[in-house]
Amino acid sequence: MTTRKMNEIARVIEESGSILLVTHTFPDGDALGSQLGLGHILQDMGKKVVLYSEGQISYLYNFLPRCTELFDIPPGDSEIDCAIALDCGDRFRLGREVDNLLKIKPFMVIDHHAGHKDFGDLRWVEAGRSSTGEMVYELARKLGVEISYEAAYCLYTAIVADTGSFKYASTTAETFRIAGELVNIGVKPEEVAGKLFDNYTESRLQLLQAVLSTLELYSIGRLAIISATKKMFEITGAELADTENFINYPRSLASVQAVALIKETEDGISVSMRSKGDCDVAEVARKFNGGGHRNAAGCKFKNGETLKEVRDRIFNELLPLVEGY
Ligand code: 5GP
Ligand code: MN
Repeated sequence: MTTRKMNEIARVIEESGSILLVTHTFPDGDALGSQLGLGHILQDMGKKVVLYSEGQISYLYNFLPRCTELFDIPPGDSEIDCAIALDCGDRFRLGREVDNLLKIKPFMVIDHHAGHKDFGDLRWVEAGRSSTGEMVYELARKLGVEISYEAAYCLYTAIVADTGSFKYASTTAETFRIAGELVNIGVKPEEVAGKLFDNYTESRLQLLQAVLSTLELYSIGRLAIISATKKMFEITGAELADTENFINYPRSLASVQAVALIKETEDGISVSMRSKGDCDVAEVARKFNGGGHRNAAGCKFKNGETLKEVRDRIFNELLPLVEGY
C-alpha cells in the first residue's frame, strides 16, 4: 500500500519538469534535511526545483548544503508542475500560503507523523518511519538516481536529527541500514554530529543556563518542566532558535517520563514536549490543537495566554499522564 503510494509519487516526479518542495514552518533538521536532500536529488535528475519555506530558517541549519537557497516568496509566480510537502503532518503547518500551495496539482505529501491529518492529492504517510529523510532515501532508490554526497549529507542529517542520534524508539534496523548507506556515500557521522550538536555560541550557553535554572520536577521526577522567557532572550542576546535541543537536558534524567519546554515567543507561547516509551505527549499536544509523535510533540498558544497560564494547563495534562509510568 505504502510502496504503491511511493511508486505513484515517483511516477509523477518522472513526468514533471519543475517541482516545488515545501516543508512546515519553523523547520527542524528532518524538515530541512529531507527538503534539501530531495531538492538535490531532483536537480540531479535535471528537474527545476523550487524550494519554499515560510519565514526565517534557523541559523543552526546554515551548514546544510545550499540551505541559503531557500526563499520566502509566495509560490505561483513560477511555472510549477507539481508540489511535494515534506515532514508536514497538518496542512496548517505549511503556513500562511497554505491555500495557494494546495492549488498546485498534483500536491503530494511525504510524511511520517502519527496522527497525520490528510491533505493534498497523493499521500505517502508511514508513521513507523524514523524520519522523512529515511523515506526520501527510499524514494531516491526507486527513482534510480545516484545519490550525491550533498544529498546524502542532507538526508543523514535529517535522520540523526529526528532520531536524536539513533536514540528514539522510532529508530529501526532499517534506519541504521539507510544511515549506513549514506555513510558509504561519504557522509562523516562525526562531522554531522558536530554541526548539529556541538554548535553553541556563548549567548546560547548562557540561555541554557537560565532555562535550566527554571527546572521544576514533579511526581518523583517523572515530570520535568522548563521555561524560556522573553527576558532571558533579551539578557543573553540569544534567539528562539537557540532553544533547540534544550529539552533533551531534563529528558536525560533517569526518572523522567515526560518533559515540557514552555517558550515565550514574538506571537504567543510555544510548547515543546518529549517523553519516553509508551508515555504519549502527542495526545496532550492534540488537546491544544498541536500534534507530533508519541515521544516528541508540540503546540502553540496565540490568544494572549501568559507563560504561567500555559504552563499550568500543560502541567494539568502531563501530571496524570506520567503518574501511570
Ligand atoms: P518541537 O518540540 O521540536 O518544536 O516539535 C516536536 C514535534 O512536534 C515536531 O516534529 C512536530 O511533529 C510537532 N509539533 C510541534 N509543534 C507543533 C504544532 O504547533 N502543531 C503540530 N501539529 N505539530 C507540532
Ligand atoms: Mn520529521
